[in-house]
Amino acid sequence: MGEFFQVLKRFVPPYKKYLALNIIFNFLAAFLTLFSFAVVMPILEMLFGIREKGYEYIPLGGIKIGELADVIVNNFYYVTQIAIDSWGPSWTLGALGLLLIFMTALKTGTTYLASYFIIPLRSGVVRDIRDAVYDKIVSLPIGFFTSERKGDVMARMSGDVAEIENSIMSSLDMMFKNPVMIVVCLIMMVFISWQLTLFVLVLLPIAGIAMGRIGKSLKRKSLEGQQQWGRIMSYIEETLGGLRIIKAFNAEAKVEHRFHEATQLFYKLSNRVMRRQALAHPMSEFLGTVTIAIVLWFGGSLILHHNSGIDAPMFIYYMIIFYSIINPAKDLSKAMYSIQKGLASLERVDKILSARNPIADPPHPKPLPADCGEVRYENVTFGYDPEVPVVKHADLVIRPGDTVALVGQSGSGKSTLADLLPRFYDVNGGSIKIGGVDIRDLKVHDLRSLMGNVNQEAILFNDTFYNNITFGVKNATMEQVIEAAKVANAHEFIMASEYGYDTNIGDRGCKLSGGQRQRISIARAILKNPPILILDEATSALDSESEYLVQQALDRLMKDRTTLVIAHRLSTIKNATQICVMNEGEIVERGTHEELMALNGFYTRLVEMQNVNS
Ligand code: ADP
Ligand code: MG
Repeated sequence: MGEFFQVLKRFVPPYKKYLALNIIFNFLAAFLTLFSFAVVMPILEMLFGIREKGYEYIPLGGIKIGELADVIVNNFYYVTQIAIDSWGPSWTLGALGLLLIFMTALKTGTTYLASYFIIPLRSGVVRDIRDAVYDKIVSLPIGFFTSERKGDVMARMSGDVAEIENSIMSSLDMMFKNPVMIVVCLIMMVFISWQLTLFVLVLLPIAGIAMGRIGKSLKRKSLEGQQQWGRIMSYIEETLGGLRIIKAFNAEAKVEHRFHEATQLFYKLSNRVMRRQALAHPMSEFLGTVTIAIVLWFGGSLILHHNSGIDAPMFIYYMIIFYSIINPAKDLSKAMYSIQKGLASLERVDKILSARNPIADPPHPKPLPADCGEVRYENVTFGYDPEVPVVKHADLVIRPGDTVALVGQSGSGKSTLADLLPRFYDVNGGSIKIGGVDIRDLKVHDLRSLMGNVNQEAILFNDTFYNNITFGVKNATMEQVIEAAKVANAHEFIMASEYGYDTNIGDRGCKLSGGQRQRISIARAILKNPPILILDEATSALDSESEYLVQQALDRLMKDRTTLVIAHRLSTIKNATQICVMNEGEIVERGTHEELMALNGFYTRLVEMQNVNS
């Protein structure tokens, strides 16, 4: 339970007001419960015909606090007595019934108000968790999300957060209501008969311990279940992304089989969890009834032997109150089971929330240098696994306005080298400087505001042309957007679409051709107008016709900007200031096209291979 209170401490503070209101109304509800049942006392006495004593009215002024309860009870009986004398027993019974109805209406009303005020807390905490996870996802570095983690992250975001909502948050109500009810009722019970209550207090914890055992194993099983759910989500995510290939390779049966195996395991785990959880209700019902039976026997014998202070109607009232403890106690034990389940999910969500972000702003960031156009890699070494370097001792200088091209075989580390510049990853050795300042001394946001990216896969969002182009830019005017689109050779096909710039481009731009997608992402980079450009195989996925339009747009974009260009087709980078040839993570040759051809080394071989291929 300690964990549960930590959860409260973490998430509840913004909702203190609601919690306070909830607790106030819970107390009101508990007291009203006691009093509404107290109304039945005179009814019982009348029915049993044991009203012998004549009651005298005692004025409330001048009595001691300790006698207050007795005096109120006495006066209530006195009023009832007067009512019976003047209206007759039948009418009095009816009036008492009405009073019971009225009290119950008050009681249920306050109970509702208590729930009413806890609901914003419940949904608010869940919203806060969701927001926190999403913000964390956005802030974590790219390297955190390898493909198999994506589905798992989605599972945590959807499944686990829902589980927290269903288990912990829906139990909150009970966690605050029931203890109040139980305590208030117990106090009343002590007033009525401390001997009986002492007896009850010995019985209840024994039942409680039995229930607690099951709760523990529930949490462990639930954790396993949620992990399996994460795997299932990964498969779905992967399948949606790869549906084209699955169909092309007739692999439906294979992926179905894999998926069914995963759901089968989830089925087994869920059965175990739910069976354990289902045990809560019958267990507590059984233990509750056993307790009642024992108390009935014990209290009954006290009355039969006339050696306690209570009479039969009082004992029945006592049992009614006791019964109103049993139900909250049962719910409480159920709630604790639920909470165990929810805590397992919270643990998984916390794994994301507490993930460390290695690429963070420095404590004392430096301002952007006046001349941001110069990029300098100094002895840079990096590996996704630090033991296996993918880029080794790379030195590279790009002067303001120059274009440096990286070429080399696939897998030689070109993209990796480029990804280091916007700090998608941090170098393991050496440093990268912009205008003489180490990029790790700059604010990440400032650093990235200097750069425009165009990659092989244009990354577009399910939104309009306009919003896709203005994606990274605040306060762009329509004129600027159109201007950028014109430079990017995109204006014409945008205008030809149904709603012009307001046309939705579909999921990831699926309604566009590859060349069109690429020209949108170029328009985006043009609008951002960054001093540094990173072009990673921007044209290599295109056919030669659309390549021409894209290349033309790119050339306009690169004009007067410091550019790092990775090119698959060597013909596109002939005019670069410098060409660097990468091989197995090292820059093995550098120079202009003519110089490299004269070397007759790696570059010459790359060129020859392409000439043969095309
Ligand atoms: P290029 O762009 O020259 O084709 P990359 O820089 O993409 O090459 O990849 C260089 C090497 O790094 C390859 O061996 C590749 O397997 C590895 N690699 C690329 N991305 C990752 C990643 N996210 N995690 C682990 N290894 C990676
Ligand atoms: Mg690459």
